[in-house]
Amino acid sequence: MQAEEQFSCGVIVVAAGRGERAGQSSEGPKQYRTVGDRPVITHTLDVFATWDGTGPVVVVIHPEDEELFASARKRMGHMLDLTVVHGGANRQMSVLAGLHMLDLTVVHGGATRQLSVLAGLQAIAGAGVKHVMIHDAVRPFFDHALLDRCRAALRNGAGAVLPAVAVADTLKRAQAGGLVAETVPRTDLHAAQTPQCFRLEAILSAHRQAAASGQADFTDDASIAEWAGIPVHLVEGSPDNFKLTLRRDLSMADEKLTRMAIPDVRTGNGYDVHQLVEGDGVTLCGVFIPHDRKLSGHSDADVALHALTDALLATCGAGDIGDHFPPSDPQWKGAPSHIFLEHAARIVRERGGTITHADISLIAEAPKVGPHRQQMRESLSAMLAIAIDRCSVKATTNEKLGFVGRNEGIAAIATATVVYASGGDA
Ligand code: MG
Repeated sequence: MQAEEQFSCGVIVVAAGRGERAGQSSEGPKQYRTVGDRPVITHTLDVFATWDGTGPVVVVIHPEDEELFASARKRMGHMLDLTVVHGGANRQMSVLAGLHMLDLTVVHGGATRQLSVLAGLQAIAGAGVKHVMIHDAVRPFFDHALLDRCRAALRNGAGAVLPAVAVADTLKRAQAGGLVAETVPRTDLHAAQTPQCFRLEAILSAHRQAAASGQADFTDDASIAEWAGIPVHLVEGSPDNFKLTLRRDLSMADEKLTRMAIPDVRTGNGYDVHQLVEGDGVTLCGVFIPHDRKLSGHSDADVALHALTDALLATCGAGDIGDHFPPSDPQWKGAPSHIFLEHAARIVRERGGTITHADISLIAEAPKVGPHRQQMRESLSAMLAIAIDRCSVKATTNEKLGFVGRNEGIAAIATATVVYASGGDA
């Protein structure tokens, strides 16, 4: 196992293509188009960034794409925010460690894919690795299991490793006039994928020989290995590892990633207490209830709305009610508390949040909340502008225990649930 961990490979990500078959876009070539919520190449690099076998990485780009790559690179590790909320500790740590370790160099490509790879190989040659994985930037759907299979084959001594999938369709060779010339037996036929993996010295030498002999149009690196007489070992590819070639492929990738995205659901809680003093009634959830006491406070002392305001602010780390409405500020004297709640809801929405649920528990010996509960829910629904079945109000006594039990005050706890747009606050 120790050896497996220490066996790392250099990585070349080939991203210099113009992607003409995918059509024109203001976002540039297809490796920079947005799928899911960020550029294709970012997804690709993140797979390497989180794999334990990744050594130095060289990205080969077109000289005109410096700015596109720089901005794409900033979106790497974007999943981090989501994994902190939803993922296990291991996943989060591997992302952090991977990104931290990634030793990334950018070089400019040449006139053909083959010459771009040669530029990448020359850049990685001094990096101290014995093996290299050459991967197309526009194949973002490979995974660690595929990388593990490739690495295992290299460890077993293979000089060249090609992930491939058996061809399922019956193949026809065409001739002029749109006619079928013949059926090509598909037995033993495979579709080549990347990353294609090699002993660095051998593939660099093969590439140099090919370039020196004037051949510059090999479409993959396994073909160059074959041409140079290096045996190429097949490993099982992955049906998901398709190459984004046409505009339709980009749409499919976008749908796939959007489906896969983990919703950014956050919950916040809030707690508040106000003292009961001589008076004529209390305001709870914006509803006035006649009573022989009132709640004392700087504002209208609506303990329920104060707790819910804190819960909402908590979902986006926006501090608490005291930060936004300091009790020392005279303008909030006697203020109706819906102002505070509506302010918090606005902050949440400005940061890309959708409020999906609000739940309040009131803890009081008196007055009775039950008869007013429906009106309180309606009040919350109107203030938050969400459906009433997303608003819950509950009440309990404190069994005559403590300050609540002695009728000295009323307490409230609240939970807010908010779904944030992926990356909305990144
Ligand atoms: Mg308060």
